[in-house]
Amino acid sequence: MKNNRPQEKTLVLIKPDGVQRSLIGEIIHRYERTGLKLVGLKFFTPSTKLVEQHYLMDKGWLEAVGNKSIASYKKRGKKLPFSDSKKCGLRILETLKKYLSAGPVVAMVWQGNEAVGIVRKITGGTEPLTSDVGTIRGDLTLDSIILADIDGRAVRNLIHASGSSEEANKEIKIWFKPSEIVKYRLVQEEVLYDVDLNGIME
Ligand code: UDP
Ligand code: MG
Repeated sequence: MKNNRPQEKTLVLIKPDGVQRSLIGEIIHRYERTGLKLVGLKFFTPSTKLVEQHYLMDKGWLEAVGNKSIASYKKRGKKLPFSDSKKCGLRILETLKKYLSAGPVVAMVWQGNEAVGIVRKITGGTEPLTSDVGTIRGDLTLDSIILADIDGRAVRNLIHASGSSEEANKEIKIWFKPSEIVKYRLVQEEVLYDVDLNGIME
């Protein structure tokens, strides 16, 4: 194939609610039909230690997730349960440890042009209540930040998807050994990426 541009990889987890809702096939189908290539796949119940390591790898995540929660209260004119974003983030981390280790998850690595952005677009925004229609989180579930907070649990939104290429590379390292990432060619890559597209006509 004429085209050797480096491709991005991204980590996707189907969280325990996605597995329990029998959505594994539906979710994989949505990523697969974009043309992205599946290069890693495993199915197991993660430990709380792995979940904590996963979320704490990005130094700014605690504060960012806290701010996300605070913003959703402000937008709806509701009284804030926490005003300190880091404290709010730490509370969310505890709920996430329980959520993600509650049962088996599907861990996947997808590869292709702009894999991180393509996957985030299909996955949709964090809160299912406000995720766009047509996205996995927008179409297939119904949780909200406020309901999750009332019940003292994490927002159940079916998927984790890496937020940036840098985040993806770090996350992939903790979920997969290098030997578990499969290097292979998909026939359709000729059509997606070959610069000439001249192998079609007989
Ligand atoms: N989360 C939560 N409450 C919040 C914000 C996030 O329970 O107010 C959970 C939710 O499951 C989310 C995860 O924390 O998927 C990680 O948050 P992040 O901001 O990284 O969202 P994502 O990248 O998953 O969209
Ligand atoms: Mg995130």
